[in-house]
Amino acid sequence: MQFSARPCTFLAALAMVLATQAQVDTSGYGGPDGSDIYDELAPEVEEDAAVEIGRAARAIGLLYDVNDSLEVIPGYDMYCHWNTDQIFLRERTSRFQHDTLCLRLSESDDDHAMPCSGHVTSPFGSRKGRMHYGLDLKLYTGDPVVAAFPGMVRISKYNKSFGNVVVIRHSNGLETLYAHLSKRKVQPGDLIEAGDTLGLGGNTGHSFGSHLHFEVRFLDQPIDPSLLFDVENGSLRAKTFEINKGTFESLALAKAAASARKYYAVRTGDTLSAIARRHGTSVNTLCKLNAIRQTSVLRVGQRLRYN
Ligand SMILES: [Zn+2]
Repeated sequence: MQFSARPCTFLAALAMVLATQAQVDTSGYGGPDGSDIYDELAPEVEEDAAVEIGRAARAIGLLYDVNDSLEVIPGYDMYCHWNTDQIFLRERTSRFQHDTLCLRLSESDDDHAMPCSGHVTSPFGSRKGRMHYGLDLKLYTGDPVVAAFPGMVRISKYNKSFGNVVVIRHSNGLETLYAHLSKRKVQPGDLIEAGDTLGLGGNTGHSFGSHLHFEVRFLDQPIDPSLLFDVENGSLRAKTFEINKGTFESLALAKAAASARKYYAVRTGDTLSAIARRHGTSVNTLCKLNAIRQTSVLRVGQRLRYN
């Protein structure tokens, strides 16, 4: 693993501003319904990104001086680190106050590809009270999964939530993530072209049913992949993608909306009236929120929204 913190260029300085609050990814977890929902679990801490990165590096005993080889790493001047172990350093961009950043996605027809040909089975956004930071795309185990853009493989590992997962860093600063693979065919440091097979589709990690969980991130912040890709047509929506404050504001709003909804998992012996009492609401409200009747039989483990 290479890990470095160095004085940064202007884009990296931007990253530092973005990352005034940083937290280390502890990896996501799956939803109780068997879906692969990834949420931010770690308490949010006010940390300067550089401090955070430096601390993380020291914690694992690795802090290299800058060397020229880092120049070949895509987007290094934006990230100032190259970590082949941690999937994301989750950095909040609520303080993104900068002008629009225009990322070039494509110069030609063959420099981008849909990772697989399947349709969307679950979109980006809030789902049952949690955030889903990617698109789920239908595939069958063994189907090839290909790189969306050219870049360098940063992560190729097994993670208990993502299963076999590959993350690729692209030269425009975007990173793409491909999860639940049955097989990985690339290693960190591999240079890869758009359309190159990086693994085979599968159902590993917290996943029930073969599918590809596909994420797009910029400086660790998730972006709805369907803003970049027209999945149905398997094409890019545009040759460029603009990132600005609004890009992440909508995410923050969705996240807030998701966390505003509270759910309770039914336990043995629970009744609607007991659940209502415990959460300071009424049986009527529970019925309305969950589209059930007062006489409905509750299942143990059933998730009931209560606010
Ligand atoms: Zn997913």
